Amino acid sequence: MILIDGKKAAAELRAELKEEVAELKSKHNKVPGLTVILIGDLAPSQIYVRNKEKSANEVGLKSEVIKYPDSVEEKTVLEKIQELNSDKTVSGILVQLPLPKHIDKQKVIEAIDPSKDVDGFHPMNVGNLSSGYESSIPCTPLGCYLLIKKIEPNLSGKKAVVVGRSNLNGKPMTQLLLKENCTVTITHSKTKDLKAECLEADIIVAAVGIPELVRGDWVKKDAIVIDVGINKTDNGIVGDVHFDEVSKNAKALTPVPGGVGPMTIACLLKNTIDCFKRSQI
Ligand code: NAP
Repeated sequence: MILIDGKKAAAELRAELKEEVAELKSKHNKVPGLTVILIGDLAPSQIYVRNKEKSANEVGLKSEVIKYPDSVEEKTVLEKIQELNSDKTVSGILVQLPLPKHIDKQKVIEAIDPSKDVDGFHPMNVGNLSSGYESSIPCTPLGCYLLIKKIEPNLSGKKAVVVGRSNLNGKPMTQLLLKENCTVTITHSKTKDLKAECLEADIIVAAVGIPELVRGDWVKKDAIVIDVGINKTDNGIVGDVHFDEVSKNAKALTPVPGGVGPMTIACLLKNTIDCFKRSQI
């Protein structure tokens, strides 16, 4: 069984991106800039944003974090986004989710210029991805996709099952696999026989949020299994896949932690650089 090392893959991607930033700097005499808006003091959000800033600096991006208290008015945030939309030194804008209840998430997402939407959540980017056009792609599914391609460069004709249909993970993952000519089944909480669906799959991507949902006898021999889940349990952090059982069957499997997680931030940096490159054309 191949243990898919997301930490190593992310470090390799960051090294490539660092070189690319250096080349862009010598060509354009400027570097891509990532601005993150952080509202409130939720501990996980603070940690994510700190890690994003650290990784952005590491590859040589210009990075900025704008912090607001929980009580900030929606109008203030929307005005700041407008200002960042017209700032030529800002290539990518990310508003860290979740937002306080009084702020309309969709309004905030739609306020970001789609060409600077490094999270790929703007409806324009969602539409472009599903139409097969160039777009920003949500970072976690993009990371999963890059890990799958490392194991199996030619995905054409493979059967893929995506467990979970969130806008963040399951739906964009489905689009990426379709684009690679996989035959994709997207499953969710109302799916009748999830085990039977998974048993058909050459590739399984589990993005559910239920600890160890995907069991060993759900997985065909030689399947590639990507575990997006991050679940806090009494036994520590576990994924949506039963690691010990599935590792006995699968051809390749991501661990949790150390699989998909590290790729997410690396893909955010990639998206920022891609936004910058498109803006220079
Ligand atoms: P979400 O928005 O809660 O969506 C969960 C999806 O799972 C929904 O589509 C839901 O179906 C489906 N589901 C629920 N119970 C199911 C069941 N018994 N069988 C089949 N499908 C079922 O979750 P998310 O934001 O996509 O996140 C999923 C997991 O990934 C979480 O553990 C999260 O912490 C983790 N995550 C990890 C990263 C990373 O960087 N590694 C990033 C983001 C999220 P319905 O649509 O029918 O409700």
